[in-house]
Amino acid sequence: MSKTVAFTFDDGPNTVTTPRVLDILEENGIVASFFLIARNITEESAEVARRALRMGCEINNHTVNHPHLDRLPPEEIRAEFDGCTEQIVRITGQKPKFFRPPFIDVNQDVFDNIDLPFISGVGCRDWEPQVTARERIDLVMSQVRDGDLILLHDMAGNENTVEAIRFLIPELKKQGYRFLTCSQIFAENGVTPRRGILYSNVFQTA
Ligand SMILES: [Zn+2]
Repeated sequence: MSKTVAFTFDDGPNTVTTPRVLDILEENGIVASFFLIARNITEESAEVARRALRMGCEINNHTVNHPHLDRLPPEEIRAEFDGCTEQIVRITGQKPKFFRPPFIDVNQDVFDNIDLPFISGVGCRDWEPQVTARERIDLVMSQVRDGDLILLHDMAGNENTVEAIRFLIPELKKQGYRFLTCSQIFAENGVTPRRGILYSNVFQTA
């Protein structure tokens, strides 16, 4: 079986950088998953999210306000999660299937109050403006393994990541990787995602 990888983009949607990411995915005929911050949803950015969905991409939950959930009481954790799910259902008609905790901050309360599998991801520090496109590419290529969930950001103005994926997609294809959504990469690898695991790779067991 061929190797699989899932690109995941956090902190959208927006009308500046998300469409540029979608253009590149479309040019390469691949899909990805987008973890939305609900407060970033406007009439215009909702349309961008719907475009992603029409392309076969997956829309997932990254809270309403991007707080440090491990510092919040259970009712606020649930409000951050439920509010984002409601907005995603409102704009797409579909429920998110995965959750990414902001800053990857989790504790037992966070796990107990959020009823979806958690995705972390293999990162390339692409939230740090000073990390160049070249460095982002090298960080991904030096770490990537079969089944990886690659953590990226489509926040407005994150030009270096747009440049990085322009190179990364053909390079990973050359190495035999196929690009799937989060749901697809678990399903194709015969893995049922479990609660209590912070997944960076679908084959993780703890
Ligand atoms: Zn984030």
